Parts: sequence; structure tokens; C-alpha cells
Amino acid sequence: MLLHQVANFKKTYFLINKHTPLQNILSIHGISKSYGPVQALKQVSFTVPPGCVFGILGPNGSGKTTLLGTILDVLKADAGTYEWLDGMQPDAARSQIGSLLETPNFYHYLSAIENLQIAARIKKRGLDDIERVLGIVGLLERKDSRFQTYSLGMKQRLAIGAALLGNPKVLVFDEPTNGLDPAGIAEIRDLIRQLNEQGITIIMASHLLDEVEKVCTHVAILKRGDLLLSGPVDEVLRSEDQVEVKADDMPALQNLLQAMPGVAGIKAANGIFILSTENGISTRDINAYCANKGITLSHLLLKKKSLETKFMELTN
Ligand code: ATP
Repeated sequence: MLLHQVANFKKTYFLINKHTPLQNILSIHGISKSYGPVQALKQVSFTVPPGCVFGILGPNGSGKTTLLGTILDVLKADAGTYEWLDGMQPDAARSQIGSLLETPNFYHYLSAIENLQIAARIKKRGLDDIERVLGIVGLLERKDSRFQTYSLGMKQRLAIGAALLGNPKVLVFDEPTNGLDPAGIAEIRDLIRQLNEQGITIIMASHLLDEVEKVCTHVAILKRGDLLLSGPVDEVLRSEDQVEVKADDMPALQNLLQAMPGVAGIKAANGIFILSTENGISTRDINAYCANKGITLSHLLLKKKSLETKFMELTN
């Protein structure tokens, strides 16, 4: 092989490996952070897979902003480590991350385009990306209007536009719908979904369960600095369905259900049994099982534990 062919081979090999699918966008290992006596984060660990919308959920003061500040290098952790993009070298990783921790100080008397030109210069991103991001956040038609004429929702979309400069792989938002009216909230939610559909991984802090339920695929729940749980929203927040059952012969029904695989617990209340079930078991399975054993159910009802109940149980 000639020298230039070797060089080309190496280049191609490097490019192929560069495009090996990412395992994790972010891995956090045992991060702790205190402000004097206040322990804001206590050994928090979790991973963020590629392509998700990852919600960091918790009541006020649970440590969400501290965690975002730490992973974005604005704050220094007392202990623990984190790595972006499977351990990519920090400077290279940083260029792939767009963030919005607080509303940027846009100039009120300047237009969207002029404000983004300033943001692009500060972030050392090319000015040629501005029209693209204005298109994504739906502000192209108003690009020459002064910032002060924008609604709150438009201002927030412009802030997201600034975070999008340079076409990052990952976006990090702190409470992106804070202070917006319902229409503004819906606009930002749609935009987040749309960005995610384009392949951008989104990590966002929120104290609103409803918001996380509506836009997030994954969640980590914090309470006073402790990580309570993390994982896909469906698994984490919906794992505990309950089934109500009743039959004429309740003692016989109880004996039967105690032996049924997939029934994790039986509680008697107001003349019915409330069953805690394990994932995978359905009301149809319960009905068929009882019928096979000669018991006809007079009442069978699936009660999905509301996300709110689950969240309150976890955080109270
Ligand atoms: P919120 O939703 O209200 O923004 P949060 O979940 O983002 O809350 P943090 O802002 O990270 O929580 O705060 C976590 C804890 O650390 C709180 O008890 C807070 O009072 C405390 N804290 C945060 N910043 C500081 C600081 N600069 N000095 C002292 N204590 C702080």
C-alpha cells in the first residue's frame, strides 16, 4: 500500500470508529455537593442514554439546578465524577452541548437576529447558523422584530435558539417552561419533542410531574439531594398497577390468589381485594386463572396508580 493510501485508510478507519453508536450521553457517578451545612446532592449516580428526553424531577430545593450546574462545569462537585459522550475529551464534548440554565440577557432594543449574532460571537459559533436556528424555533418571520416586542414564549424560544447555535447533540434546560402561560408551555413542549425527533438528546430539570410525563422518555427523581430512582418513565412511574377483585366466596378467592404467580400482594378493603401485581400480569390473566379454578369474579377493575400519587409518595 502506498503512503497516501495508508493515510486514507487511517482516515476512513478513524471516521468509521468516530461514528460507532454512543452508549451514554452522560454518566454521573456518585456526585455530592454541599453549600456549607446544606447537602444539595448526595452521591447521585445515573446514566442518560442517547436519543432520550431525560427529566430531572424533584420538588423545589431538591438539587436539580445544582446537578445541572455541576455537569455543565459551572459548579464544582465535592465528590464524584461525570463524563459526557462516552468519555469524550471535555473540550470536544462541550462543543456538542447546548444549554439554557437561566434566561439569557438579550438586548431589548435589538432584533432576534442581532441578539443571536452577539450570542454566536460569545459562544464562538459561526454566524451562518443563525437563520437555521431561527427556523427551528419558529422565529424566522419575526427575526427583525425587537426582542421587547416578543411574547414570553417567543423569548424562551429565542433562548432555546441560542442554545442550538453550532448544532449540538445534547441540550440541557433548567425548567424550560417556567413562567409561561399554557399556550407558551405547549409551544415549548412541542419544540422539545421536535428537537428530540431530530436526534437531539435533551436533559431538562423540572418540578412539574405533568411536564415530565408529557415530554420525557426517562426520568431521575431527586428529593433533598438523594436520587430516589431513575429509568424509563414507563417503568419508573407506572410499575405499580393495582387490580380490584371480588367474588362470592372471598376466603376461597384469597387462597387462590395467594398462589397465583405475578400477584405480589393482597389487601382487603371495603369487601374487595386490592392486588398489587408484577409487570406483565393483566386483568385478563387474573380472570382466566380464577375461572379455570372454578371461581367467578363479580368485580374486576384495573386501577392505574396515578403518577401524581406515586410522585407524592416518593417525595413526601
Ligand atoms: P428549585 O426548583 O427551587 O430551583 P432545585 O431543585 O433546583 O430547586 P437547588 O437550587 O439545586 O435545587 O438547591 C438545592 C439546595 O441547595 C437547596 O436547599 C438550596 O437552598 C441550596 N442552595 C442552592 N444554591 C445555594 C447557594 N448558592 N448557597 C447556599 N445554598 C444553596
